Amino acid sequence: MLNINKIYYGGDYNPEQWTEEIWREDMRLMREAGVNLVSLGIFSWAKLEPKPGLYQFDWLDRILDLLHANGVQVALATATASPPPWFSRLHPESWPVAADGISYKPGSRQFYCPNSAAYREASSRLAGEMARRYGQHPAVWMWHVNNEYGCHVHECYCPVCTKTFQEWLRERYKSVDVLNDVWGTAFWSLGISDWADVQLPNRTTSYRNPAQVLDFRRFMNHSLLNLFKAEIEAIRSTGATQPLFTNSVFGLKALDGFEWAKYQDVTAIDMYIDPAHGDQAWKDGAFWHDLTRSWGRGKPYLLVEQTTSQVNWRAVNSLKAPGTIRTLSYQALARGASSVMFFQWRASKSGAEKYHAGMIPHYGVDGSRIFAEVKQIGAEFAHLERLGSQQAHAQVGILFSYENVWALEIDSKPAQLDAWNVLRPWYNALIEQNIPLDFIHPNDDLSRYKVLIAPLLYQISEAQAENLKSFVQAGGLLLMTYFSGVTDLNERIWLGGYPALLQNLLGIKVEEWQPFQPGKTNQMLVDDKSISCSHWADLLYTTTAETIATYIEDFYAGRPALTRNRYGAGTAYYAGTLPDQAWLRNWIKKICAEQGVESLVEADPDIEAGLRAGAYGSSTLVLVNHANRTAQVDLMGKRGRSLLDERPVTNNLTLDPYGVMVLELEQ
Ligand SMILES: [Zn+2]
Repeated sequence: MLNINKIYYGGDYNPEQWTEEIWREDMRLMREAGVNLVSLGIFSWAKLEPKPGLYQFDWLDRILDLLHANGVQVALATATASPPPWFSRLHPESWPVAADGISYKPGSRQFYCPNSAAYREASSRLAGEMARRYGQHPAVWMWHVNNEYGCHVHECYCPVCTKTFQEWLRERYKSVDVLNDVWGTAFWSLGISDWADVQLPNRTTSYRNPAQVLDFRRFMNHSLLNLFKAEIEAIRSTGATQPLFTNSVFGLKALDGFEWAKYQDVTAIDMYIDPAHGDQAWKDGAFWHDLTRSWGRGKPYLLVEQTTSQVNWRAVNSLKAPGTIRTLSYQALARGASSVMFFQWRASKSGAEKYHAGMIPHYGVDGSRIFAEVKQIGAEFAHLERLGSQQAHAQVGILFSYENVWALEIDSKPAQLDAWNVLRPWYNALIEQNIPLDFIHPNDDLSRYKVLIAPLLYQISEAQAENLKSFVQAGGLLLMTYFSGVTDLNERIWLGGYPALLQNLLGIKVEEWQPFQPGKTNQMLVDDKSISCSHWADLLYTTTAETIATYIEDFYAGRPALTRNRYGAGTAYYAGTLPDQAWLRNWIKKICAEQGVESLVEADPDIEAGLRAGAYGSSTLVLVNHANRTAQVDLMGKRGRSLLDERPVTNNLTLDPYGVMVLELEQ
């Protein structure tokens, strides 16, 4: 594993937008801001290779030397994120095609078809040239491969993709008979007799074949991953040994982060929470931090981009209030990141992102509130080196797979589902009371967790079902929700009552469900109290499970809503509906307590806490107050030393509005 012994701080650096005189000013200001890492050259292809095969590295040589002389390490981009106009002119077959069948045009960024052989060849050639030239450069700490794969073009419907999809299917299924069986093509007369019968699933007259859509998503993930692997191979073939990563982007569902992490030394995220989301904003951030950390299954991860204030690509772009550049940076530390970086060092004076904030605003640095906050964070991080080698750990896992996300969101379901929206209440219930969690793939070894939550784990394989049963059998606690275990991994129902493979584990059987119309709720009777529930009601029968709650309203009143089943040495809970959030929070807290899992702290609702642990029992607690008011924290017996001001801290403490605290805990 990559050894990281400090917190890296900095941002994307795009010196090609500025004169060399400004570069020298940048070096001085980077030192002043505590910058020790920049991602360099992400969009430099046109400058590095202005004509096919003609390379201009002299300017990059100079800036790398300058950064090295000023003690700034570099995550050197392979510069392949956006091919230059000459490439698009010479290779019109590389132009991606949208779902409506119309080709995109050059003039923006990330302009290539994921299956373009010309793009794959040109991008891996440039990556190889970069690695040959800079594989031994002392400033180059890491390779930043490409940038935000799939951010704009994660699906392409061009003739090249059609043909490549047919080849991919032939490789996967070997015979059309197998494909017809897996895709269930007996329905609607969709049986194919030749691979060439398969078209891409866009612009259909009615619903598309769900199994075909799911395979198309797998195929596009695979296509983009192939581009990444080609660049990696080009770098490694030169003998360059620096660690490498590619940065994924907040909100993207198209790429399977667990799969991509296998090829990276660290995982990485670009984080763009919307400050206009109020209390939900920091929870959205926590979600993506947890997910990025979880992709790597214990590898360190990097926060590669966030903004110091506004972005420019929402309909209305709210700024980050004073103090929240800092709180959101400490959130990264709380959740286990080894770097805090921004897009970008200096806000551009032209181009499509000139209104995207930078570490240096258009205003300049003198009297700038943004630069003052940037400097404060950099100065503080110099005291927090110990966090670099410490990792965040959890005893609770949320079962999560991208294939499940893709399958859930395919249309022709009982109700239209947004994977993040259906996950959010269950995720929030944990983080709102500072119970650390990982996202865990259902194929993975589950034994390191004490509690597993499976919100809408819609698809399940026989092996995954066995994995869950073994976990509970051995004493684990599983909480599974409605619309779980319904299909196999190819959109085929497991027959015999939902969730057929897990009925013994859960002690229940579901025949029907009632997804609620917007605004509709029901009530559950639980412990003689009436509790609101929403979204969905499974109409279930218990076999061996005991009923915890029953519905109060509608024709299914009196039927079980929540159940509990003993299985082996463990327990399996089932939620046939979505309980009211406050009640859900308490319920999950009680369930976790059954397994000895507790909150890190007891605190006001705007407090986020994270624990990082390192060698020899060392551990550090990071506390962040996300609200503009003071907040109380009960450390529940923990004691330690504040690393920012060397104060000893015990038990109850008050955090200032937008305050943070980093506590080296007593062992
Ligand atoms: Zn294509």
